[in-house]
Amino acid sequence: MTLDYFPEDVKPHILPTVREDLYYKCLGCSAEYPIEKLLYVCPGCNQVLLIQDRNALSLKKIPGPLWQKIFDFRKLLKIPALKGIYRYHEFIGPCIPLESIVYLGEGHTPVIEANQHLKERVGLSFFYKNDGQNPSASFKDRGMASAVSSIKYLIDKRLISNVIAVCASTGDTSAAAALYAAYLDPLIKSAVLLPHKKVTSQQLSQPLGSGAQVFEIPGVFDDCMKIVEHLSTQYSVVLLNSKNAWRILGQESYSYEIAQDFEWDMKNKTVVVPIGNAGNISAVMNGFIKFYEANIIDCLPKIIGVQSEHADPVFQYYLEPDEAKRKFVPVDTKPSVAQAAMIGNPVSMPRVVQIVKTYNALAGHQQVFFVQVTEQSIMDWQLRANRNGHITCTQGGECLAGLVAAFQKDIVSSEETAILDATAHAIKFSEFQDLYFRSEIPEDYKITSNADNINLPSLILPDNPNLIPSQTKRLGEKDFQEFVKDISDKIAERLDLKEPL
Ligand SMILES: *Cc1c(COP(=O)(O)O)cnc(C)c1O
Ligand SMILES: [Zn+2]
Repeated sequence: MTLDYFPEDVKPHILPTVREDLYYKCLGCSAEYPIEKLLYVCPGCNQVLLIQDRNALSLKKIPGPLWQKIFDFRKLLKIPALKGIYRYHEFIGPCIPLESIVYLGEGHTPVIEANQHLKERVGLSFFYKNDGQNPSASFKDRGMASAVSSIKYLIDKRLISNVIAVCASTGDTSAAAALYAAYLDPLIKSAVLLPHKKVTSQQLSQPLGSGAQVFEIPGVFDDCMKIVEHLSTQYSVVLLNSKNAWRILGQESYSYEIAQDFEWDMKNKTVVVPIGNAGNISAVMNGFIKFYEANIIDCLPKIIGVQSEHADPVFQYYLEPDEAKRKFVPVDTKPSVAQAAMIGNPVSMPRVVQIVKTYNALAGHQQVFFVQVTEQSIMDWQLRANRNGHITCTQGGECLAGLVAAFQKDIVSSEETAILDATAHAIKFSEFQDLYFRSEIPEDYKITSNADNINLPSLILPDNPNLIPSQTKRLGEKDFQEFVKDISDKIAERLDLKEPL
């Protein structure tokens, strides 16, 4: 739709105005730093940063209902830069001019309601938001579109050049980083560090296909992260991990979309997210806070963070009810099918601590909860969801297992509607499904294959071994007809097919 057709009240706002009001704020010492600097931690105290808007108050000058209308009408624009996470430009990155925005089709992923059968099994109504339908098949594309657009902005301003971008990853960050960097080739080259044998073959193939330099490192993700941190302090590299506060900013779009998809009504809504490095839950909470403060939504949804018992440092931290006594202790992880979240020392823990406090205070009561689930329940619920028409990964299975656990603990009730993050596409993690179906999941995962969930292919062969066609040996007409009949009869018997009346 061209500008002329937009309503008069929306017209002046439909195209965002660029304003340079962002800055980095340290979560440790509250020091502030200009946004044009490449910063990941505070040079003063080494703590992680968040990006703040000096002019956040100006956002309140536009009444909430008008914001809603602006975002709804922006859907009708044909400008690629505003088709993804930057539909919410004023909240996602107001200093980024539209020419610097990198858009590869991320965001605006569908929310799919669970069918009646599955809802009854779980006990309440819920939706999956399919973030596996992003370009590199996980939610990481939201943060990467933001981080890489911020780099493009600095390149366009001639503040940096010849960028080497690096990240450590449990698989999906590297897929996203390599994809977005490849789009800007040769302005950005990317290198990714992966824990050897701790990512699926699909995840490994992604950065390789995008042309990134891929380094496999012995150990687990937490070990890779330490190497990347060392590289980023000793050498001139751009860090694309969620230490990079731009990643958090971009991932806030997930919450904005939920608000918009549910007609801005967050009453009785519960948003469930798996926690690994804790960047995503930080972003999700922050997004709702910002929309709440700008009067775009009038209440904060409940947030449930889910961790596997094999990688649960955040859950353990919040087990202590007395805030003053809480102490963060990193854990050693055990093998987890929610491998993308298998992190013992989450980088964003300081962000979580601060944002949870703000979130609960704004809500006026506890509105953020943490639950722990077994590996068995993650796998069983993932498979159950997908047998009911979803396309969720194991981490999305973790969300559903978490919702069930929260329901059993009365953290959610049947009056509520939950929105579950299917953080990646099922096919990225199909190796775990294969192992489960073949009853070959290694013992240390503590999962046994439940016969009800197993599905394996059946090879159907003809009785007569001379009637087996192959690419090189074609059958004669008569033999082939016999083959077709024999195989068809066998399938009909298996399916219990009846002859037509
Ligand atoms: C990264 C990732 C997570 C964990 O998100 P954090 O921001 O690290 O907490 C969960 N699921 C998938 C599929 C991921 O790629
Ligand atoms: Zn500091």
